[in-house]
Amino acid sequence: MTHAPTRTEVIVVGAGPTGLTLACDLARRGVPALLVEQAGALFPGSRGKGLQPRTQEVFEDLGLLAAVHAAGRPYPRMLSWEDGEPQGEWDLVGGPGPVAPDPTVPFPSVWMLPQWRTQELLHERLRELGGEVVLGTALSGLDQYPDRVEARLTGPDGTERTVSARYLVAADGGRSTVRRAVGIPMAGEQVDPRPALVADLEIDGLDRGNWHVWPKAPGGPLLLCPLPSTTAFQLFAQFGTEGGAEAGAENDAKGGTKGGTENRTEPDTSPEGVRRTVAARTHLPESALGRVHWASAFRPRTALAERFREGRVFLAGDAAHLHSPAGGQGLNTSIQDAYNLGWKLGQVLRHGADEALLDSYEEERLPIAADVLEISTRLHRAGGVRAGGLRRGPRTEQLGLGYEDGPLTVEARPGLTEDALRAGERAPDAPLDGAASGTADSGPAGGAAASGPAGTADSGPAGGTGSARRLFELFRGPHVTVLAVGRDLPGLPTGVHGYRIDGGVTERVYGPGLFVVRPDGYLGLATHDPADLPGYLDRLGLR
Ligand SMILES: Cc1cc2nc3c(=O)[nH]c(=O)nc-3n(C[C@H](O)[C@H](O)[C@H](O)COP(=O)(O)OP(=O)(O)OC[C@H]3O[C@@H](n4cnc5c(N)ncnc54)[C@H](O)[C@@H]3O)c2cc1C
Repeated sequence: MTHAPTRTEVIVVGAGPTGLTLACDLARRGVPALLVEQAGALFPGSRGKGLQPRTQEVFEDLGLLAAVHAAGRPYPRMLSWEDGEPQGEWDLVGGPGPVAPDPTVPFPSVWMLPQWRTQELLHERLRELGGEVVLGTALSGLDQYPDRVEARLTGPDGTERTVSARYLVAADGGRSTVRRAVGIPMAGEQVDPRPALVADLEIDGLDRGNWHVWPKAPGGPLLLCPLPSTTAFQLFAQFGTEGGAEAGAENDAKGGTKGGTENRTEPDTSPEGVRRTVAARTHLPESALGRVHWASAFRPRTALAERFREGRVFLAGDAAHLHSPAGGQGLNTSIQDAYNLGWKLGQVLRHGADEALLDSYEEERLPIAADVLEISTRLHRAGGVRAGGLRRGPRTEQLGLGYEDGPLTVEARPGLTEDALRAGERAPDAPLDGAASGTADSGPAGGAAASGPAGTADSGPAGGTGSARRLFELFRGPHVTVLAVGRDLPGLPTGVHGYRIDGGVTERVYGPGLFVVRPDGYLGLATHDPADLPGYLDRLGLR
């Protein structure tokens, strides 16, 4: 096991999807960070298994999308059952058939991968980037000072030590110790009083081409989803609808509650209990039901922290917001938190940006979390688990989420049409089908190189787009990018990547102008005036 230093730049508490994503982003920025996880191993369950299109874009930027795509699969069609007979199929996401290609959206469909496998791939990527998770190490308390935060960490052998850092990020889940330690209240409500059982188990003889649903099963609806990367199925069973046969069990889901259970049946999370539930509610014989890898019971809850920051401590992921699983938003919103915070910490700690940049984290992410919570709660209450009733829409893909009203957004182009792309929105992808030129490091003199057809590999050391074929390839990496669309590329500070692009899909989608693309892929500044650039870039520590 890695021994932690007593001083670092950032302490990340919790190696779930949030902590691992943040650690990857900090590692590629060269920011020293310590990622501690109280458990002796990473989380073993399939829980958040839907990776939304926007999350896939983040993973592409972080360099693990190819592995995620190789390990996962598209969502299978839902198939409902009654009395041992198949009743009908429908799509949970999108419509029948493949999603139509769109040059601005490279990954249009939600991708299925069990959460444990996503975490494993993030962990592998973190190691490639030179980072590590310190397992078996829990934060037990912290103190804040004007210039640092000190965390008390308890290791596997029970010894306590103190580590100091400039900042600390609570990625320690719904029951966040850090959130309580800094006294940030979290207000919420139960979305559904009925408990649910979620588990991963082996099943013989059940077709892996469909997500099977028993909407009218005795005791409550039950679903079995074949999980890619494994031979197991994910079980989801609702309880308490009409007095099922299974008896009491510990509710171990984070964010779940034990209250309000009067006259309601509690799920049994033991392997025998899980198998008994499946056998009682489906036509599958108990002999077909094998090993149970993981099981948990919970009551869907929605909750939002009052603030996402207290001094040098930031809340991210489930520590800041809790969702119903309906709509598949929790893990995805958590990863976006990490992606928003990582580059800001990097600019402050590595490039000397003003600490005020970090205030924008809460200002941008709290309203997004509130919006997403509203969507997942509405989907939960409207959907139900009945044939045809559980369907997701485009709002769950997280491509339309942006920071239009955020403090880092400057839209300086007058007279835009209503449907024009605006500062604050996600910077869309586009094939480099127009004329593109520029350089990966513009240097003080700027990077305008001779224009030529994009996509050529021969732009050479003088600059150029190299072999890039898409805008996202120009954005990939920890840098800020400036796009000069249909106009000259001005001089840029060292480290900023700049490109001039004329025509093609880019000019059609972006319109003419100068655009600052933040490292997390959102349009920060949109202007016609090169004089707006230095002041804006200065706020990001780029001078
Ligand atoms: C049944 C179910 C289905 C779901 N389905 C989906 C879905 O389809 N799509 C989706 O997007 N989301 C889904 N979610 C939500 C998703 O699982 C969570 O949003 C996600 O795990 C949040 O990640 P996190 O890293 O913030 O927190 P967590 O995954 O909870 O990770 C927190 C980590 O911190 C560690 N920790 C806690 N306290 C300490 C401490 N004091 N010191 C050190 N370490 C500590 C924990 O051990 C844990 O490893 C689902 C959730 C449930 C319950």
